[in-house]
Amino acid sequence: MADCIFCKIANKEIPAQILYEDDKTMVFKDLEPKAPIHYLIIPKQHFDNVTNVPAGNDIISHIFTVAIKMAVKEGVSDEGFRIVNNTGALGGQSVNHLHFHFLAGRQMKWPPG
Ligand code: AMP
Repeated sequence: MADCIFCKIANKEIPAQILYEDDKTMVFKDLEPKAPIHYLIIPKQHFDNVTNVPAGNDIISHIFTVAIKMAVKEGVSDEGFRIVNNTGALGGQSVNHLHFHFLAGRQMKWPPG
């Protein structure tokens, strides 16, 4: 997608602090971290949000596999972490390229605002 900021990060057209990538996904630091560890996990392929992922596509399960890999890498798999997906306007999504927030390093609260 021409004007998509996360597509540009995935294509390395604009910089990001990339922590992990494979053929399908990329993990980079959120510009405005909401926790000591705040990463974004994105598919390299553009989907506006979870509702656009075709049935049978395994990208969501792959993203969760990557998230768990990051938890182990960061040493937070035992103490805990949070994975967040915001979908659409009421869901609080501000970038229309599917992404999951990976947050760790502090006590999370419930419910989120
Ligand atoms: P959401 O509000 O769920 O759509 O999350 C979008 C997230 O992307 C926010 O937490 C932003 O801080 C983050 N963000 C926006 N632009 C960039 C960027 N260029 N590099 C890293 N994070 C970004």
